[in-house]
Amino acid sequence: MSAKGRPERELLHPGGKARSAKGAPVSAGEAPAVAATSYQLLIDVARPLRCAIGRLGEFDFPAGRYVYTGSARRNLEARIARHCRREKTLRWHVDYLLAAPGVRVVDVLRSRRGECALNRAVGGGVPVRGFGASDCRAGCGAHLKYLGPTASLPAARPGSTA
Ligand SMILES: [Zn+2]
Repeated sequence: MSAKGRPERELLHPGGKARSAKGAPVSAGEAPAVAATSYQLLIDVARPLRCAIGRLGEFDFPAGRYVYTGSARRNLEARIARHCRREKTLRWHVDYLLAAPGVRVVDVLRSRRGECALNRAVGGGVPVRGFGASDCRAGCGAHLKYLGPTASLPAARPGSTA
């Protein structure tokens, strides 16, 4: 076994740099080096929560699993890392939820699909209308979905942030 030959699929993982052998061109037919621009956070709410979400107002969140779908055209990993960090200025709706006690990100999915398509592919209910959807032009209603007590991401892959 030689050290070369790691698959190009590593592209979607943290770090984001192609790992082709030194100087070797990426062969045609391999997945193009298009980085993921959308992501989903699987969020666990440990116990029922009442939480103020910026200017949206105050809402009740049942305990269980939620999926938040967002996008970042650049610096996707920095965005995801920011979501997983507790200390930060509260800016997006999801920041308010993630800052609440007993709330944490338990999985992350990265995707090249558009965020609205990704969001719509997830079932579940809309706990807060307009949540994370200020820029949504596709009529999603919200980019936060409530999945139920024990759901996981449909296509969670290794390398995601726990
Ligand atoms: Zn949308």
